[in-house]
Amino acid sequence: MSIDEIGAYCEKAQSEGVREIALTEHLFRFRQTEAILGDYFLRFPESPMRSLMYDYWHSHSKADLDVYVEVASEAKSAGLPVRVGLEVDYYRGEMDKVAQLISGYPLDVVLGSIHWIDDWPFDHISDPFVMEYWNHYGVERAWSEYTRAVEELASSRVTDVLAHPDLAKVAGHRPALPTEFYDRMAEAARAAGMAAEVSSAGWRKPAKEAYPAPLLLAKFFALGVPITTASDSHGLDHVGFRTADIRDYVIEAGYKSLMAYSERKPFSVEL
Ligand SMILES: [Zn+2]
Repeated sequence: MSIDEIGAYCEKAQSEGVREIALTEHLFRFRQTEAILGDYFLRFPESPMRSLMYDYWHSHSKADLDVYVEVASEAKSAGLPVRVGLEVDYYRGEMDKVAQLISGYPLDVVLGSIHWIDDWPFDHISDPFVMEYWNHYGVERAWSEYTRAVEELASSRVTDVLAHPDLAKVAGHRPALPTEFYDRMAEAARAAGMAAEVSSAGWRKPAKEAYPAPLLLAKFFALGVPITTASDSHGLDHVGFRTADIRDYVIEAGYKSLMAYSERKPFSVEL
């Protein structure tokens, strides 16, 4: 990542009507997390996902977190409208180590997300083996475990924003009665003082719905949980994806402001 590349992201964002973007690379992409991922991996000695987990992390954890934060901070100092952030997966039992690792970096914002239900990367929608596992696991149990992970992530207080809060729907699998799960997610965010992320990414996934679902967004609003907005872009093409639609979506839900972050301190921005 270079400052020129970040500049191109900012230009694309501004052309889509977005004034400021947060750079939130996944923490597992950095070699500094290898020990934490290794410890988490050891928790699942019998897992059918074991070789997939190993290969995925081994091939992805090559970047340098020091360099990433340095370049992103330089871009900010140079006047580009960016915030320096990370997206942190929930790893049960390992969050103290995660907190310790990230505390050493000058970050503006840390997103927290659930991408693993124990040993299962349930959102790897392009992998038929992983998707087949939905049948073994069961939709209700998956949502129950996903929601428990959201609660644990929130209570760890390691992260500021609950990213794509109902990601469990990504492949299009929804529980018969989502209300109890939504109530628990909204209460978890409220109790931890987290914001909830409203993301357009769900519209490009089999779920075909923004994160969070309208009913969950309504519950966040009712509990006074603030929101951020995101396109969850993994490349230049999706920067600012459907920004106008997200704006309409959150206004419809009653929101009048968004949360922004500087040095991990939230402040409100009018919509
Ligand atoms: Zn994510």
